[in-house]
Amino acid sequence: MTAAERRAALEAIAAEVRDCTRCRLHETRTKAVPGEGDPSTEVVFVGEGPGEHEDRQGRPFVGASGALLTELIESVGWTRPDVFITNVVKCRPPGNRDPQADEIEACSLHLHHQMEVLDPAVVVTVGKHSLERFRPGDRISRVHGTTRSIDPATGVRDGMAFAMYHPAFALYQGSNRPTLFEDIAGLPGAVAASRQRRAAAEPPIPPPTTPIEQPITRSDTADTDQLTLF
Ligand code: URA
Repeated sequence: MTAAERRAALEAIAAEVRDCTRCRLHETRTKAVPGEGDPSTEVVFVGEGPGEHEDRQGRPFVGASGALLTELIESVGWTRPDVFITNVVKCRPPGNRDPQADEIEACSLHLHHQMEVLDPAVVVTVGKHSLERFRPGDRISRVHGTTRSIDPATGVRDGMAFAMYHPAFALYQGSNRPTLFEDIAGLPGAVAASRQRRAAAEPPIPPPTTPIEQPITRSDTADTDQLTLF
């Protein structure tokens, strides 16, 4: 898929999310929050669900947790627009309660479609519901800062899930803050490792049987506007 095709596909999913009535959360939302970021990124952050600020603006992680998430992303030399940020559920659970199992299940279709299009090398799980989706059975207190391969049934073809504490963990208790920064420092290495793993799994390209005479045309390089992060 070219960058333009990815962008269009993500916009089509976002339109479906904005019209979605698959669970009760649509009744109380102000705006649905499909997610945002670089369609060609190798790294997708998946949080739990929108809070009050996100519900008002229709954008993920724009409140206090978002400010810390932005700091964490910048601490490894990236910016928010370099990555893609979304949530397990796209509409705010009222009163910031946890999303319920049937709501997560109803919304999994959208997340699955996003993963198929984004095809990330690494999914960063932010919070316990995201961890459960991409690393079922894992406990965050044991696995924070580590990677595990992802079941392709999630829509991620051949990627790794990097487990991170939710920023709220450090907002409620400031002494947890260094742990988040220490953990995310390992993320660029995890991306490089996942990228290498994917390249090794790809079948070798056979040598050409006839000499290549055609110059590279513009249409052959339609993907060159993709941002390579690392
Ligand atoms: N917390 C989340 O998990 N997601 C958001 O978008 C905002 C806060």
